[in-house]
Amino acid sequence: MLASNGRSETIQQKRQRIYDAIDSATPDRLRAILKKVVNEQPGGLSLVGEELLLRKGQSKAYTLQNRPNGAGHGDEEQDSSDYSDADGDDAPRSKRKSTYSRQRFEHCVQCEKEYDVTQNGPRSCQWHDGDDEVDEEQDFWADHDEDCHGEIDTPEMRKLFPEGFRWTCCNKLGNDKGCKITPHRPDRSKRVRR
Ligand SMILES: [Zn+2]
Ligand SMILES: [Zn+2]
Repeated sequence: MLASNGRSETIQQKRQRIYDAIDSATPDRLRAILKKVVNEQPGGLSLVGEELLLRKGQSKAYTLQNRPNGAGHGDEEQDSSDYSDADGDDAPRSKRKSTYSRQRFEHCVQCEKEYDVTQNGPRSCQWHDGDDEVDEEQDFWADHDEDCHGEIDTPEMRKLFPEGFRWTCCNKLGNDKGCKITPHRPDRSKRVRR
């Protein structure tokens, strides 16, 4: 490619232009491009697989070392903890031809963030296990007229004005850090499985 001064664009310049385009592309566009890399680019399948999927046994090894109560060795079959990432690894061999068993990144139902399953430890997730209710006791909403400013008790208002809400679990304000520290817990409804 020729730059405006007539000389060839350097690799660095080209790379920077592609980075800029990636930064401004929509998530849907990036997904489509990534799938194309998987399908058409030699090595693309394993590259993307390494980033997004776990190898067989990878999450199980981690769960055993890092269970929240620190107990238990080799008894993962009896582990009924909701935090366990090990389920599904006991499927019959015949159903697991692929090197990869499942996705590496999960969505946490507690903190509602995405997390890396291989990095999920006993203190990874800070969250509230109560409800965030409208805080009527302080003056935060004193000048708020629901007829013209909108209903208060909505998810949108919680996002916009977390300090106007209070957690029932610890009585802290909506934007205060979580009172519970645990591992992240996978959202099984969002889990993608074969
Ligand atoms: Zn709390
Ligand atoms: Zn979490």
